[in-house]
Amino acid sequence: MSGALGFLIDASYFAAATLFLLGLQRMASPATARSGIRWAGLGMLLATFVTFLLPDLHNLGLILVALALGTVLAWVSGKKVAITDMPQMVALYNGMGGGAAAAIGAVELLRMLSPVADPAVVGGMTLLQIPHPQAELALLGGLIGSIALSGSVVAWAKLDGRLDRRLALPGQNAINLALLAGAVVLALLFAGHGFRVGIDAMPSAWMVVAFFLVALTIGVLVTLPIGGADMPVVISLYNALTGLAVAFEGYVLQNEALIIAGTMVGAAGLLLTRLMARAMNRKISRVLFARFGGGGQAQAVEGAQKPIEAGDVAAMMAYAERVVIVPGYGLAVAQAQHKIWELSQKLIERGVKVRFAIHPVAGRMPGHMNVLLAEAGVPYDLIADMDEINPEFATTDVALVIGANDVVNPVAKTDPASPIYGMPILDVAAARNVIVIKRGRGTGFAGIENALFYADNARMLYGDGAEMANQLVAELKALDGGH
Ligand code: NDP
Repeated sequence: MSGALGFLIDASYFAAATLFLLGLQRMASPATARSGIRWAGLGMLLATFVTFLLPDLHNLGLILVALALGTVLAWVSGKKVAITDMPQMVALYNGMGGGAAAAIGAVELLRMLSPVADPAVVGGMTLLQIPHPQAELALLGGLIGSIALSGSVVAWAKLDGRLDRRLALPGQNAINLALLAGAVVLALLFAGHGFRVGIDAMPSAWMVVAFFLVALTIGVLVTLPIGGADMPVVISLYNALTGLAVAFEGYVLQNEALIIAGTMVGAAGLLLTRLMARAMNRKISRVLFARFGGGGQAQAVEGAQKPIEAGDVAAMMAYAERVVIVPGYGLAVAQAQHKIWELSQKLIERGVKVRFAIHPVAGRMPGHMNVLLAEAGVPYDLIADMDEINPEFATTDVALVIGANDVVNPVAKTDPASPIYGMPILDVAAARNVIVIKRGRGTGFAGIENALFYADNARMLYGDGAEMANQLVAELKALDGGH
């Protein structure tokens, strides 16, 4: 594009890309993350607005209706969503990004099928606009975007408790491979490569439809058997795939904003996937093609859970030297972060050394616990990650587990049949005393019994996380003579 308008559009896309980058950089620290979101949002607003200046924009009415619908839906769902349902919403939005990229791919592929103005006749056949220089990119983006769409919808259903966590067909990997091979063959035929090997198949609309159906099925089948501790890895992988699909379709549309935004999401998502996979001690290929754990019958846990009263726990912590608090998904359910910080402040005032231990996959989305603790105002220097805190449990007087289950389950080390076998855990069992706050005997995301709750040094404080934290604060105040 040339002229003043072209310059304005290019300059605006450049500014939008800079805002994305700066926003992403600011998201690296909880202190600047909020402003990072705003910067990136401003970039997105600018990119969307500038797109209306592009020449040859058709279907303006439809675009405006779609924009209005999307804005209202996102605004209402964003305002209404409970904090515990955030991961499901992220999974859905992720899938929609992949779906949008796949839809662009489908439309562009069908457009490529329209006959050229002056069709050449080769070997008695009318040559369509295939092979088209952009066909391969549109196909690749379409494949990746479709897998991210259907895979994310399955992930959403699992996170929302609507689907069994681990459903696998017999010969699952062979079926997935056969489907992938089918998608590749359809793509090659469509892109006109069949002629190279003497296959006389004209590209047609049915190939596009079949290709997308196969791609969507792959996403469903790959995600169905993934459960337990592998979900975080798979969710961040689909996030990365969505970004890549958007970037490919950006090339097809020759739209710089899509290319840059897609590449950034793809790169950041891949880095996050690697980080999550490393934290889980897993290879990404094993997450997708092998089941976590042996898949057999998990060992039964022997013994009994031993309850304790809030008054005894408060006294134990008040006279402790070191207390480590281990939050998990139940902290988010109970919204107990403010109360637990109030409790910690009371302990710190008494001279107790308090730290928070965060497992990389605690909660239901990456950084879930960091967000909650930051919201409550817990200083960052009191928060330690798994590698840093694990050696310290042996010298800890009280490990207070609140709403965490899978991330502190020792069977991850001891039971090869367990679905979380091999996942690194927080070594809370090494502490002198372990107090577990949870409502009852509910299992965690992986749906398995936790050996820690039956350990000799563990006591169960049954109840809602916020209520129990409240009781502990009241008991501590009583110890201090009401202050
Ligand atoms: P878990 O899901 O293992 O356990 C949560 C525990 O909290 C339950 O056992 C439940 O027991 C308790 N709980 C629920 N509500 C309350 C409440 N109101 N008050 C007190 N306790 C409550 O959580 P973890 O954080 O330990 O583990 C995270 C799991 O989620 C891992 O398996 C991880 O792989 C998976 N996951 C993580 C994602 C991520 O990105 N972080 C994404 C997807 C999955 P009870 O019912 O008895 O109260």
